[in-house]
Amino acid sequence: MELSHRGPEYREVHEQALERVRSLLDVPRSHEVLFLQGGATGMFGLLPLNLLSTTTSADYVNTGIWSTKAYEAARQVGPVRVAGTGEVNGQFIRVPTAAELSIDPQAAYVHLTSNNTAVGTQFHEVPACGEVPLVVDMSSDIMSKPLDISRFGIIYAGAQKNLGPSGVVIVIVKHDILERCSQKLPDIFRLAAHARANSLLHTPPTFAVYLTRNVLDWLKDQGGVSAMEMRNRKKARRLYETIDASGGFYYSAVEKTSRSVMNIVFRLSSTKLEPVFIERAAQAGLIGLKGHRAVGGIRASIYNVISVEGVERLAQFMNEFMRIYG
Ligand SMILES: *Cc1c(COP(=O)(O)O)cnc(C)c1O
Repeated sequence: MELSHRGPEYREVHEQALERVRSLLDVPRSHEVLFLQGGATGMFGLLPLNLLSTTTSADYVNTGIWSTKAYEAARQVGPVRVAGTGEVNGQFIRVPTAAELSIDPQAAYVHLTSNNTAVGTQFHEVPACGEVPLVVDMSSDIMSKPLDISRFGIIYAGAQKNLGPSGVVIVIVKHDILERCSQKLPDIFRLAAHARANSLLHTPPTFAVYLTRNVLDWLKDQGGVSAMEMRNRKKARRLYETIDASGGFYYSAVEKTSRSVMNIVFRLSSTKLEPVFIERAAQAGLIGLKGHRAVGGIRASIYNVISVEGVERLAQFMNEFMRIYG
């Protein structure tokens, strides 16, 4: 950790990490890969700072907590519109279809959140946005499946859910968008300046990049993102089938076609039993199952690193819990 970020040892790690992102996601030459700090939340601010002006507006699709935060940050910088919502009677239980979006063809970009961790919804198809660049927060599902990167203007993701430790945010950005970035910002806030400096404008989060590089090596050994997709689908199917077969003891409020493969959010028909479920699960070694504080209930976050066996143990626990308390 004391090694200089300009020294050969770190340079090798840095280049390998960038190269692994490129090769695992098949990033075309039209796009640049960046490692930045400030998390996904930092990007909520950097996006409008770089791409909005008083004369251009941006479209935001609102599908829950994170997209609301992204929208609120942009609103402080420039004009924004809501181009679609996943809200039904005050609850974010679905994602809108492409046909339900109303996109301003003049918008600087369309922003959406591909996977919504708190409510457990996910876009399973990338909506077509015409000529308007699509900007997607993939913090909670990056590297969980293959992507056609050429369809995106910007993809960004905090590493800490599917990729590595907190402290680094991965940005995949199309060159022509970099050219449009505001010139009025200090370099540290300009995406184009980071691209020109190969993400070494200043000291990068070296330890986070190093661990991310190691996780990307692991991912490659596992068979890459296609193998991850199969594994993730299998894991999610096992839990949703357990919920659907419980006769209402467990239920999911999320519309079936919008169900997340990463965050399985569900409730017990008896809410009194939810804390009991969480406590008994912890006693069985199954931890981190409490739902997001804004939503409640139960949430199984089954990111890439969670094994099929781990999910199987949870499914068996759920059936056993139902047998005792149902
Ligand atoms: C977790 C999460 C974030 C938060 O990112 P930070 O790196 O903590 O700023 C943002 N967006 C999504 C979709 C997330 O899942």
